[in-house]
Amino acid sequence: MSVKILSEECIGCQTCIDSCPYGAIVMKDDKAVLTEDCTFCGACESSCPVSAILVEREKAEESQDISSYKGVWVFIEHRDGRIRNVSLELIGEGRKLAQELGEEVSAVLIGDNVAEMSKELFASGADNVYLVEGSAFQHYSTDAYSIAFTYLIRKHLPSVILLGATNDGRDLGPRVAARLKTGLTADCTSLSIDPETRLVAWTRPAFGGNIMATIFCPDNRPQMGTVRPKVFKKPVPDYNRTGKIIREELAINEKDIRTKLIDVVKVCTFSCNLEDAEIIVSGGRGLGKPEGFRMVEELAQVLKGTVGSSRAAVDAGWMPYPHQVGQTGKTVAPKIYIACGISGAIQHLAGMQTSDVIIAINKDPDAPIFKVATYGIVGDVYEVVPALTAKLREVLQ
Ligand SMILES: Cc1cc2nc3c(=O)[nH]c(=O)nc-3n(C[C@H](O)[C@H](O)[C@H](O)COP(=O)(O)OP(=O)(O)OC[C@H]3O[C@@H](n4cnc5c(N)ncnc54)[C@H](O)[C@@H]3O)c2cc1C
Repeated sequence: MSVKILSEECIGCQTCIDSCPYGAIVMKDDKAVLTEDCTFCGACESSCPVSAILVEREKAEESQDISSYKGVWVFIEHRDGRIRNVSLELIGEGRKLAQELGEEVSAVLIGDNVAEMSKELFASGADNVYLVEGSAFQHYSTDAYSIAFTYLIRKHLPSVILLGATNDGRDLGPRVAARLKTGLTADCTSLSIDPETRLVAWTRPAFGGNIMATIFCPDNRPQMGTVRPKVFKKPVPDYNRTGKIIREELAINEKDIRTKLIDVVKVCTFSCNLEDAEIIVSGGRGLGKPEGFRMVEELAQVLKGTVGSSRAAVDAGWMPYPHQVGQTGKTVAPKIYIACGISGAIQHLAGMQTSDVIIAINKDPDAPIFKVATYGIVGDVYEVVPALTAKLREVLQ
């Protein structure tokens, strides 16, 4: 993609300056010129009254016959022999999309000795499982998985691909999309089929969560997107369902793997499997100091819950990033979410507001968190949290 301003055509009206969301057009000698902030989004093109802006878009690969792409695929993530919940959630949603398109939903299972997991994938709604097994796939590796996934897509031509917006999905999706010269919409919060075009309508927050953008991928296939954990509900498994396993043999050349996994280091000071937690106790800047998290951890322990954090507390170095809840952290939907000293900024709410019950503890009665809270306690965290922990310990033990 490239953007050019034809200076001989430009009449210096400055309309394009207002149309640029990145402030990347300036006037020089009464002519509009692009600065290096231009992201080539093309938003300026239609604003020019004299067609002096030329946006050249790459054409879809000549050989790509869009009509031959069929079916919805879900990339399956697994760890320590267990399928991650996000993959099952996406099978459920993928099934709905596939039904609307009158097509099948398939799971892509890559790993070492993972065939057994197919049962759960069929039970969750998959019609087919594309299976690639081998020692090169024992742990997720960018190179090995990108090679295998790209190979499968080129061979079987799926129309739609869903991946979790997780560390692995965010690593794999864009690489595969780039190899296939197709688009990928990251971090979607809802998916549907446009009734007119039968394209997937990928909806996601944009501009810091201030607008919801719906994105289409009309010219290229597959249509790809990542979706955060807990955006969709996990389907109720039906173990009477079966499906077809399509096994693919694929040899990976060692030279193609540029990284070597030496060790796995857990960075969580406390359990940080937030996405699957039923109870989360989170702390924010209102704790005032890193030691405040000891009190939060204690409450979480009594409730058999997990510790979360606002970004402010992560940025201050009080908690490691894997605990961050929100737009740039994890999306969670526990049964109970307790926010201690968290103001309730929109970016934090984006990650937790679908929790069943929200309990907010904040000394400011006007804190925005109270707008989404089921129960609000106005008070100092250092008085409320220890009192709550002591009472719960008494009741629960
Ligand atoms: C692009 C972008 C992405 C972002 N992503 C995220 C994200 O993923 N997650 C996230 O959390 N934020 C995110 N943020 C930051 C977000 O905008 C807020 O700055 C952040 O959530 C504030 O964290 P906080 O509520 O802990 O701190 P503050 O906003 O400072 O709130 C502290 C609260 O504690 C209360 N308080 C103070 N002392 C006490 C006390 N003793 N007892 C009780 N209450 C007390 C105060 O009244 C206040 O309401 C993002 C911002 C941007 C621009």
